[in-house]
Amino acid sequence: MCLSDNFGVVIHDPESGRTASIDAPDAETIADIVRRKGWTLTDIMATHHHHDHTGGNLALKQEFGCRITGPKGEADKIPGLDEALGEGDVFSFGAYDFQVFETPGHTAGHIVYYSPKAGVLFAGDTLFSMGCGRLFERGAAEMWSALTKLKALPGDTMLYCGHEYTLANTRFAVTVDPDNTALRERVAEVEALRETGQATLPVSLSTEFATNPFLRADDPAIRAHLGMTDAGNEEVFAEIRRRKDNF
Ligand SMILES: [Zn+2]
Repeated sequence: MCLSDNFGVVIHDPESGRTASIDAPDAETIADIVRRKGWTLTDIMATHHHHDHTGGNLALKQEFGCRITGPKGEADKIPGLDEALGEGDVFSFGAYDFQVFETPGHTAGHIVYYSPKAGVLFAGDTLFSMGCGRLFERGAAEMWSALTKLKALPGDTMLYCGHEYTLANTRFAVTVDPDNTALRERVAEVEALRETGQATLPVSLSTEFATNPFLRADDPAIRAHLGMTDAGNEEVFAEIRRRKDNF
């Protein structure tokens, strides 16, 4: 956990000895974790240019000489970038290959990293548990199409995202999907986890498919609840996003 609600992840492959931080919110916190484990940071996998995801890049690069990989679409905004990746590229991390998907919406060039072998998705600020990133640089249609790519991934994939916003997200989710039993159950689970100071992440994509309203713009119950039974999926998604922005 870095900064106030950033959710940082450090991964290590014992075979190759490589260690990567997914984004770099805070150099000192990440350096501490790596040093305590006796590892050396070899990589930073950047998802997008926002400062609370890249602020630690240069200090970590200076200390560890790590390679920084990040989105092609915003290469000029990622401090210390060594390798730019876009849709369809593969980032090899020891024995693990990460497929790169471009997910424009929150930022124009945002990318996410998916490893089929490890069964993990590093989604940055594109997808949160029961939420999605605000649309700062691209519109709802593009974001819906980005989320549609993630909806096609296996349900047992574990989602790691850039922020622990889950509890706040539940408050909104129940307003657009009030009769969803899976959502009610997840809300209870999240409340219990937060009460005892535990993280709500990672979470399986199958749980998100069943509970995250931003992945469910095509769900008949949500569409009926919003009075948008005949609308296109992008329009329903846009309406859910608009409601969340004003929530
Ligand atoms: Zn962001």
